[in-house]
Amino acid sequence: MSDTRANRRKRRWRRPSIQQCHCCGQQKPFCWRCRCGFEICQSCMQENVWGMSCNHITWQCPDCGQLNGFGNQ
Ligand SMILES: [Zn+2]
Ligand SMILES: [Zn+2]
Repeated sequence: MSDTRANRRKRRWRRPSIQQCHCCGQQKPFCWRCRCGFEICQSCMQENVWGMSCNHITWQCPDCGQLNGFGNQ
């Protein structure tokens, strides 16, 4: 009887490689991310860019109001 398999511990769920958009709820390989943890996918960002960015250089997080830069994660 071997119990090597039973001894294998499950890894704790930490950081997923796939990010979940807080706007549409879908899981995407890439999301814009705020320091507060808010994530928004590329397509939602494009839809809401008029409300989140006034200059297309920075976007404002709807959660905390912090300004984040495009392309500078
Ligand atoms: Zn989305
Ligand atoms: Zn934020």
